[in-house]
Amino acid sequence: MKYQIPRGTYDILPEQSHKWQRIISAFRELAAAYGYEEISTPVFEQAGLFERSSGESSDVVKKEMYRFTDQKGREFALRPEGTAPVARSYLENRMDIGAAVRKLYYIGPMFRYDRPQAGRYRQFQQYGIELIGSDNPYYDAEVISLLWFYLSGLGLAKLRLEINSVGCPNCARDYDAALQDYFRPHLGQLCPDCRQRFELKPRRLLDCKVKTCREIAQGAPSQLDYLDEPCRKHFQDTQHQLELMGIPFTINPRIVRGLDYYTNTAFEVSYEGLGAQNSLAGGGRYNGLLEQIGGKNIPAIGFAGGFERLLLALEEEKVPLGNAPAPELFVVTLGEAAREYVLPYLNKLRLAGIQAEYDPDKNSFKAQLKAADGRRARHALIIGETELAARSVILKDLASGEQQTYPLEPLSVLIEAIRR
Ligand code: AMP
Repeated sequence: MKYQIPRGTYDILPEQSHKWQRIISAFRELAAAYGYEEISTPVFEQAGLFERSSGESSDVVKKEMYRFTDQKGREFALRPEGTAPVARSYLENRMDIGAAVRKLYYIGPMFRYDRPQAGRYRQFQQYGIELIGSDNPYYDAEVISLLWFYLSGLGLAKLRLEINSVGCPNCARDYDAALQDYFRPHLGQLCPDCRQRFELKPRRLLDCKVKTCREIAQGAPSQLDYLDEPCRKHFQDTQHQLELMGIPFTINPRIVRGLDYYTNTAFEVSYEGLGAQNSLAGGGRYNGLLEQIGGKNIPAIGFAGGFERLLLALEEEKVPLGNAPAPELFVVTLGEAAREYVLPYLNKLRLAGIQAEYDPDKNSFKAQLKAADGRRARHALIIGETELAARSVILKDLASGEQQTYPLEPLSVLIEAIRR
């Protein structure tokens, strides 16, 4: 083979696409029921948007971003995540005018240069929602509930929801100082990245994936002990709403999320059976982001999840996602006159919503029936010279072998029989 697919990417083959369509439309339907509207932004943006929002020292920006310079020397990046582009679009399109809150959802590819492994790709598909314009903990709970009911509604049982509060910049100041006090004696054992994080963003020390750093981080002080009164109340109110909805959760002070813009609620849903890449989705409040990228101080909350891991989890739990659709009808012709007749006739059936196929490369009756079988068609529709002369067709149920004659026109009688 001369050309190969880029490392860390994959093709969605026709045999798989019905599964994708199923989980994508389930997300669209639920998001719409919750009052969210779809937004689509470009797959590339000015690189500065991500540097400014995610933080220049975040892994996503430092190591994983696909950057490129265009013909005029402008710096762009393939989007590594969806929140900053949606926030950019919200500000640019003045969505703050009018409605108090905007409830948006998106579906689309994201790009990160990371080491590929099961459940981790360089191009992956995310679904996500962003609720912009309110700081009410009611919405924290609403957003979490949408995610929870989406995943559980698909049939996943081994789900785990963990929540935390990372506080506001006011709480973070004291907490950062406490973290530095804790990590200072261990500086020599930390990885080079963490030594940088120690100065720049001590909270990132909690998110490191290196084993020794993780072990040291075990004993670090908890953000929850450093929340100021409004943040503590916000977190309590969010939990109360989750309890009212009967959504099970645990509090995990280690959920800090890797990007700079998070404040208050942070959450993650993981799936037990997935090994290392077991996080299905995550999100949180980002009250600082819109101001950071040039807007007013507008509070917001959202989440993002990956469809690839979701499919892996559904497979692991053996949730049936149906089969690739098979044609309702396979047309079989006998003789030249019938062949002349078939294309206009097929079109009428197709425009009436019947999935109908025909194989013009096969001539004999036997070869055409075999093709119908191969495509797992439900019915064969036989049009021969005798039938044409009598203005009729034969509809054959390919499973039972039963067949019956119908008039060629009007189609309604035949369609009713096919749908029965
Ligand atoms: P994040 O934006 O890193 O919080 O990721 C949110 C969700 O996107 C994760 O829980 C995964 O389901 C998915 N995800 C993130 N990175 C990848 C990746 N490289 N490959 C596949 N899915 C990913």
